[in-house]
Amino acid sequence: MELDERFMREALAEAEKGFAKGEVPVGAVLVFKGEVIARAHNLIESLADATAHAELLCIKNGSEILSNWRLLDATLYCTLEPCPMCAGAMIHSRLHRLVWGAPDLRCGAHGSWVNLLDIEHPIHRLQTAAGILKEQSSQLMKDFFKIRREENGASFRRACDIAAE
Ligand SMILES: [Zn+2]
Repeated sequence: MELDERFMREALAEAEKGFAKGEVPVGAVLVFKGEVIARAHNLIESLADATAHAELLCIKNGSEILSNWRLLDATLYCTLEPCPMCAGAMIHSRLHRLVWGAPDLRCGAHGSWVNLLDIEHPIHRLQTAAGILKEQSSQLMKDFFKIRREENGASFRRACDIAAE
């Protein structure tokens, strides 16, 4: 969908900001009533916080802006398939719809590793669309890990060649 691609480009721009800071390049934007109300990229290294995923930060910022923890009419765009932690936060926040780009083969919670989003949930089930601008998102990850491997040598390979291989 054209609109999905447009917002995914904004999520990719966030991922690029993360890339420039040495963060794994994952970006997210939260769209409410046709407008981006929150945007975030991974800040795991910057904050030394394993939970500082783009999606989670975006959900937190969006809830703050809306002064509402329920994101019933919002759509979250993420460049990478969300992990179980973020997928859980999406269910808790009653997010209306999730759109993601590249699969995360190691940690993806929408089928790559586990699937938390397509199974019946007693409280909430969100709409999803997968693989939007997948190539661009995947390329960004590959470029990032290529540089990291070159900087850190072969020993780093095993630890970081996640996603989108
Ligand atoms: Zn996550």
